[in-house]
Amino acid sequence: MSEIRSRFAPSPTGYMHIGNLRTALYAWLIARKDPNGKYILRIEDTDQTRQVEGAEEIIYNTLKTCGLDHDEGPDIGGPVGPYVQSVRMHEGIYMEYAKKLIHLGGAHYCFCNEDDVEAQREIQTARGEAFKFDDPCKYLSIEEAEARVAAGESFVIRQTIPSEGTTYFDDEVFGRITVENSTLDEQVLIKSDGFPTYNFANVIDDHLMGITDVVRGMEYLSSAPKYNLIYQAYGWDIPRYIHCPPVMKDQTHKLSKRNGDASFEDLVAKGYLPGAILNYIALLGWSPETNQEIYTLEELIPAFNVKHIGQSGAIFDIVKLTSINGIWLRNMSLDDYYELVKPYIEKAVHGNFDLKKIAAVVQQRANTLSEIPEMLDFFDTFPAYSNELFVNKKMKSNEEISLESLKAARAALEAVAEWNETNVHDALMALPEKLQRKNGQVLFPVRVAISGKQFTPGGAIEIADILGKEETLRRLDLSIKQLEG
Ligand code: GLU
Repeated sequence: MSEIRSRFAPSPTGYMHIGNLRTALYAWLIARKDPNGKYILRIEDTDQTRQVEGAEEIIYNTLKTCGLDHDEGPDIGGPVGPYVQSVRMHEGIYMEYAKKLIHLGGAHYCFCNEDDVEAQREIQTARGEAFKFDDPCKYLSIEEAEARVAAGESFVIRQTIPSEGTTYFDDEVFGRITVENSTLDEQVLIKSDGFPTYNFANVIDDHLMGITDVVRGMEYLSSAPKYNLIYQAYGWDIPRYIHCPPVMKDQTHKLSKRNGDASFEDLVAKGYLPGAILNYIALLGWSPETNQEIYTLEELIPAFNVKHIGQSGAIFDIVKLTSINGIWLRNMSLDDYYELVKPYIEKAVHGNFDLKKIAAVVQQRANTLSEIPEMLDFFDTFPAYSNELFVNKKMKSNEEISLESLKAARAALEAVAEWNETNVHDALMALPEKLQRKNGQVLFPVRVAISGKQFTPGGAIEIADILGKEETLRRLDLSIKQLEG
C-alpha cells in the first residue's frame, strides 16, 4: 500500500536543460500514475562552484509553466524537509550520517592530501591502469582517526568498498548490472569543507525523503553500485532506479546548452508552446503503445510506462518538434489562439484590420509563434514584387492569364456592394467558369496581386476580405499596371 514518491532533483545551473526537463516530466508522470503519489522537488546545490544567481527561480518557473506541480519542495515545505541540500548540510544531516556509516564499516576518514592522491594517480596511469585511490587511512582504527579529527586535522570521508566480491543493481531501463567491487573507486562522500558530494547526498536524501522511484540521467548508471553498497551498509531499502538515456544532438553528441543547443527557455522564446515541448520530449526515448503522437500532460499520465523507455539516446529533432507545435496551435479554439497570438500579430500589423480574422488565417499555417510577424508583413505595406511570381507551373498560370484574371477580378470586386467574405467569395468564384479557366488560374494571381508574396497565410478570398474593398482594388490596380507595363 506504500505510495509512490518520486523526485526531481535539479542543480541550480541557470537554465532548464531539455534532458533535465524530460527527467522532471518522467518522474512527475510516475508519481501522478499513483492516485496517492507524491512528486518532490529537491534543490541540489552542494557544488558551490556551480551556483548561479536566480537559477532556482528558473526551476520554479519552468515547472509552473509546464504544469509539473510538486507536492513538497523548498517553496511549499513538506514533512521531510528541508528540501535544499545546502540547508540540510548546515543542519549537519550529512555529517551525522557519514559518521554513522563509518561506524557501520561503509566509510572511513581520510587524511591524505591532493598530492598523495596525485602521486598514486601518476604511478597507476604510468602502469596503464585505470586510476583507483588506494587509501592508507582506511587501515587506521576509528579511535585513532577520531583523535586526529579532534586534534583539528583536515580530512575527507571516503566510502569503504570491499576489495572482493561483486555488487549488482537493477535498473528499470537497463536491467541488472553487476560489477566487480575491485573496480569501484572509494569515492569522497564528505569534502574537506564539510559539504557532501552528490554521490553521498543523493543516497541520504532519497532515503530520508522516502523516495521510491529515482529517475535520472544514465551518467549516474556506473555509480549506482556504489550507492547500493551505501544503502546496504545502512540496511535501507533500495529505490526503483530509472536511468534515462541521454538526449542527443546527433549520433555522437549530447544535446548541451553549453555548446549552444536550445534550453527550454530558448524554445519558448522561439515560439514553441510549453505543452507541445513536453509532448515532444515525452516521446524522446519513450514510445507509446499506440500510434498516438499528440498528448496533453493529462493524457500522458495513463499512457506513460517506464517499461517503454529505450536504452539508446534519442536525437532531438527540431523539425519534429515544430510539426507537433503546429498541430497544438491548430488544435486550439480560435478564441484561445487569438489571445495567444495577438501580441505577435500586433508586431507586424498596425493598420486598421480585423486582427481576429488575421489570427484565423495564420492558425492554418504557422507552426511556431515567432514566425508569425514575418508572415504578415504585407498587410501594412504592399511590398514591391516581381512579375515572375505570376508564373507558376502547378497553377498553370503565367503573366498573360494573370492579367486577364486580375482585370476580371477587379471588375467583379468593384461590383460587390457589401464587403464580406461570402460576397467576395461569390464574386471571385463566379469567374473561372466565365473565363473558362481553372480556379487556381484566377485565385492564385489575385492572391499574388494583393499580397505581393509567393506564400501567404490565407488565400485570395480571406486576404481580400481582411484588406477591405478600397485597399484590395488599389492593389489590384497597381498590379494590373505592373503587368501591363
Ligand atoms: N542534481 C543532479 C543533476 O542535476 C540530479 C541527479 C539525480 O536526479 O539524482 O544532474
